[in-house]
Amino acid sequence: MSKKITKGKKVSKGKRITKGKKVSKGKKIGKIKKAVEKRVKKKKELRQKPLEDPVLKEIITRIAGDRGYEVAKVLAGEEVTDDEVAKRMGMRVNLVRKILYDLYENRVVSYRRVRDEHSGWYVYYWQIEPERAREYFDNNKRLLMQKLQERLEAERDTIFFSCGNGDPKVSFELAAESDFKCPRCGSKLGPYDNSSVVMALERQIESLRQRLVES
Ligand SMILES: [Zn+2]
Repeated sequence: MSKKITKGKKVSKGKRITKGKKVSKGKKIGKIKKAVEKRVKKKKELRQKPLEDPVLKEIITRIAGDRGYEVAKVLAGEEVTDDEVAKRMGMRVNLVRKILYDLYENRVVSYRRVRDEHSGWYVYYWQIEPERAREYFDNNKRLLMQKLQERLEAERDTIFFSCGNGDPKVSFELAAESDFKCPRCGSKLGPYDNSSVVMALERQIESLRQRLVES
């Protein structure tokens, strides 16, 4: 067994031992190390200012809406408990948790669970995972596209009715079943124009299609 000893930049830090016969291997390792360092640096940067990344913003708002994006902002560059997020945002902690779990399911955030010695309860420290979020999103774009397409078709093929009082719209079948009265408030149901919903879906699909083409 032959060992080649390669000196590091700082002698004091010790000598690096590199196995192998070829000198080029040492060079290769150096290259890989550099690439890893670069990635780590980039990851750190992304974590510190994820808000400056429009793709990430889009991912987060798509998952958890504008409020989800506000929550993600609080997590930028630090670990924060759900209680602390709620406090800083003046939001109910239950709502904050719901948003965090939605983001967690989509790999946008992760948590560290610590048992509180006094109460015996678990405290969750949340942090944002920009890189993982992008990877997961890339892998699921096609599925998302399919879901959006299905929703678009359903919107196009269905005649909707609404009471106009802010209650959810109902399909023709449901409206007929309930004698054209709103299932929520009982007011008379009238035709509902869903063209803005259709247009919004078309826009979403188009932007997603472009992203798929790019990648
Ligand atoms: Zn109603």
